[in-house]
Amino acid sequence: AGDRAAMAEAAAASRPPPDVDTDDCLREYRHLFSPDILAGQVAFITGGGSGIGFRIAEIFMRHGCRTVIASRNLQRVSEASKNLVAATGQQCLPLSIDVRQPQTIVAAVDEALKEFKRIDILVNGAAGNFLCPASALSFNAFKTVIDIDTIGTFNTSKVLFEKYFRDHGGVIVNITATLSYRGQALQVHAGTAKAAIDAMTRHLAVEWGPNNIRVNSLAPGPITGTEGYRRLGGKFAEEASQFDTIPLQRAGNKTEIAHSTLYLASPLSSYVTGATLVVDGGSWLTSANNFPALLGIASSSAK
Ligand code: NAP
Repeated sequence: AGDRAAMAEAAAASRPPPDVDTDDCLREYRHLFSPDILAGQVAFITGGGSGIGFRIAEIFMRHGCRTVIASRNLQRVSEASKNLVAATGQQCLPLSIDVRQPQTIVAAVDEALKEFKRIDILVNGAAGNFLCPASALSFNAFKTVIDIDTIGTFNTSKVLFEKYFRDHGGVIVNITATLSYRGQALQVHAGTAKAAIDAMTRHLAVEWGPNNIRVNSLAPGPITGTEGYRRLGGKFAEEASQFDTIPLQRAGNKTEIAHSTLYLASPLSSYVTGATLVVDGGSWLTSANNFPALLGIASSSAK
């Protein structure tokens, strides 16, 4: 009986919290961290209008944080903001930016500082991705992904540094990926872009540590209810029982990524900087990386 109790205990530590697959707020939420762990703080979240970024905004707001959610599509972030405010009772400012255009970031950060007078946390979540073999990838497609993911992350981090973090400290969480760890097939563009961000994380952690700025990466595995999951063959992998090869035997959900981001953004990780936190159920260690098979998935999911 003692063994069974111990197993039940262990299972609780890897049990996924409830989530919904749409960009709606959670119907119920039980706090695991202290509900006021981010009270009084402000987070600037790029890509905060959808998917993982949306859930990060929601979970931060449920922990007392006000948010700025910023991406290209103002209508998308405005609607997301209404849902987030209704579900959490916190303030959320939706703004339009293109992370490839520094002046749009400058304008958004100015507006956020005018509204909230402070920014404590930056989450770089904006990214673009699709499945494509290197042989079929246009020069422009490769460049676009580097522009949005890598250069966009640098642009946003630098603007936040100059406008606020240099003098007040801050926390940066870069959402990356595990794609480059094993050279994931059909992902040379995104894998290269995210590997460069992990390098940037370490460089900026070293240079900006003396300013009390912590910089870390979070690398998610396959996450349900996201554009990434829908576009990159998640459903197919699920139907083909490919998740059986993942050590934790399942995909992750958006709330799990948001919880790990909350850890990295909060004082619980006060001595953590320059790190990449992999949140993938052990997936990259064991999942298939079969180039011909993945080509088949790409052509069937494109239909
Ligand atoms: P998503 O909903 O498509 O999120 C991407 C966001 O980036 C969108 O809100 C998009 O909004 C924004 N964006 C794109 N280009 C932009 C630009 N030039 N300027 C400003 N914002 C821009 O996808 P997701 O799957 O939740 O992914 C979120 C993050 O997690 C990404 O960094 C992704 O690489 C990473 N990730 C996801 C998975 C997964 O399984 N889903 C796995 C590993 C890593 P607009 O269109 O309005 O600009």
